[in-house]
Amino acid sequence: MFGSDVFSWRLMRQRLPKDVVKSLMRTIERGEALDPKVAGVVAATMKDWAIENGATHFTHWFQPLTGLTAEKHDSLMSPDGSGGVMFNFSGSDLVQGEPDASSFPSGGLRATFEARGYTAWDPTSPAFLMRGENNVTLCIPTAFVSWTGEALDTKLPLLRSMQALSEQALRILRLFGTDTGVSRVFTTVGPEQEYFLVDRELYYDRPDLLTCERTLFGAKPPKGQQLEDHYFGTIPPRVLAFMSEVERELYRVGVPVKTRHNEVAPGQYEIAPLFEESHIASDHQMVLMETIKRVAPRYGLQALLHEKPFAGVNGSGKHNNWSMSTDTGVNLLDPQDETHTNMQFLVFLCAVIRAVDLHADLLRSAITSAANEHRLGANEAPPAIISIFLGSMLSDILAQVEKGLPKRTIRGGTLDLGARSLPQLPRHSGDRNRTSPFAFTGNKFEFRAVGSSASIAWPNTVLNTIVAESLDVIATELERAVGKTRTPARLQSAVLAVLKRVIRDHKRVIFDGDNYNPEWHAEAARRGLPVMADSTEAFRVMKAKKNGELFRKYNVLSRTELESRMHIAIEKYVKQLTIEAEMMVSIARSMVLPAALQHQALVAETVAATDAAGVDCADTRESLAEFVGHVSELRKATAAVEQACAHEDGDPFRHAAHMGSSVRQAMADLRSVVDHLETVVAADLWPMPTYRELLHLK
Ligand code: ADP
Ligand code: MG
Repeated sequence: MFGSDVFSWRLMRQRLPKDVVKSLMRTIERGEALDPKVAGVVAATMKDWAIENGATHFTHWFQPLTGLTAEKHDSLMSPDGSGGVMFNFSGSDLVQGEPDASSFPSGGLRATFEARGYTAWDPTSPAFLMRGENNVTLCIPTAFVSWTGEALDTKLPLLRSMQALSEQALRILRLFGTDTGVSRVFTTVGPEQEYFLVDRELYYDRPDLLTCERTLFGAKPPKGQQLEDHYFGTIPPRVLAFMSEVERELYRVGVPVKTRHNEVAPGQYEIAPLFEESHIASDHQMVLMETIKRVAPRYGLQALLHEKPFAGVNGSGKHNNWSMSTDTGVNLLDPQDETHTNMQFLVFLCAVIRAVDLHADLLRSAITSAANEHRLGANEAPPAIISIFLGSMLSDILAQVEKGLPKRTIRGGTLDLGARSLPQLPRHSGDRNRTSPFAFTGNKFEFRAVGSSASIAWPNTVLNTIVAESLDVIATELERAVGKTRTPARLQSAVLAVLKRVIRDHKRVIFDGDNYNPEWHAEAARRGLPVMADSTEAFRVMKAKKNGELFRKYNVLSRTELESRMHIAIEKYVKQLTIEAEMMVSIARSMVLPAALQHQALVAETVAATDAAGVDCADTRESLAEFVGHVSELRKATAAVEQACAHEDGDPFRHAAHMGSSVRQAMADLRSVVDHLETVVAADLWPMPTYRELLHLK
């Protein structure tokens, strides 16, 4: 069943003429331009396959800057002129589409009257069939560009960044003479996706969840995640049935899902695929999120991909496992057993360290959103300070390199014991660190600060670009030092000299301690690492000259393309917070206040009736007075949110800063009044399902 709805390599080899396959391979593997004749043959074959499998329509599937996916379906059929239909799908239908670009965010790249945009077939990401009720659609992964050729999507920059990294990584391999048979280096990603499930009926009773995917109110339930009994716990039957169907659907379209389990918070789960080439992983990640959303209602569930649907319990992230690999299958971040002798690995490792230190601001910026703001820095997700966890084995080797030629690779005792039967274990020397935003985990880095609802395309574009730059700088130095007469001894001494300097200059970004410890903030500031608590500051990073130049130099994004992304991010931030604030006001006024007044009337009637019966009810009277006080606070706090929100500012940065400070504060104040009311208003009068119901319903 795996991949049965994918127009895979296996299928292409079976169905396409040999020379077409060869030509397509050259495009995919070596990046050679696509031969138009080849496109025609591929289109015809793809069409036949799609129709045999029930497809009636095709779509160019793309990822505009909304952060979501987009599709416009066209029928494969047209009248044949004699009462029947014929199926049409030409090479140009496959290669190029022209959706109206005017309604997608362009961040100033295009004025709305300039509507032309093109989708271009990405032959490196396999086409697949999307099945729904009564419909099967052939989905062709594409990149989306404007008429002027500027990237209007998240995929094109990702592809460009992979190309940049490949070119620089190959230079390193050439230096070490390990490039034999290698035509390209690509990055690999395996994103672990966390999400919540809530009962769909309860979901419909919560306008905040419905509109914002997060609860804007909700008192802390007596049982949250204190007992930590949910993590890796038995998966409830309804949830397991749901997960199995999600997996089945994903297998069909070729998404290699591997892991499923309960996460830390009640009602929270995780799904993780096997890693793939970054751009395919990124496409598949979008398919995965959509599949989770689509399947959940069939089980009476609603999936929440938001980073923080509930206050007081953990939020959701997406651990972006990342590495570099040759097309011959060598993982360049695999330290091997005798790591201290593996100079090539140390070069790639140090290139990453240098990149993360120099461009921590960009990485921080790449994961910023109104939703992720709730997680970062809270004691559950990595802090908003970017640092690297290496573990004791690598830290020790780097310390040795600083002094000279490294002599040993530390191994943990128990790991040695396990090593005889479990060959992978010695590589995991040193413990894990769950608090680091960027952790080395055996043979890859895990960028843990990515938000659960975010596309992984942009964080990976940044990662690839900054590492490409470091590889470039290191390769240039090494090439110069080694010269034409390359001897192993010369290479070794050149590598040691370069690594030594990189370590000395960039080791400040390495931190193996507890990133949740408040002392780390002070320590990070002392080390000169960027500590960016607020989102506005993080958005501003994209304006920095060094960053504009970086993306331009490696042909990933022009300055205007980069700035357009910044504008879109800020605008989205402001809009999301505005929607949340307005939603809060609406719920407070039209749901909470009426319930509170009803409760008030009930207590007042009780006081009157008790008085009339001649019985003293001083404490009820007192609690009534107190309650009336809360209701009046509710009115005031609601008005305060409304007022804060009414603020207009022509400057997007100032507007975002206002939203992030004044509006957020007013929202927090209103929430605390409402959450208190929830604990005192009669339960049958409370207008929304509570956290207890939302979190613990299985
Ligand atoms: P861990 O337990 O250290 O998180 P796993 O083997 O469970 O490691 O992998 C977690 C995720 O990391 C999976 O999605 C997996 O596919 C991905 N992963 C493993 N190796 C690599 C690699 N070389 N490049 C990118 N991702 C990888
Ligand atoms: Mg992991």
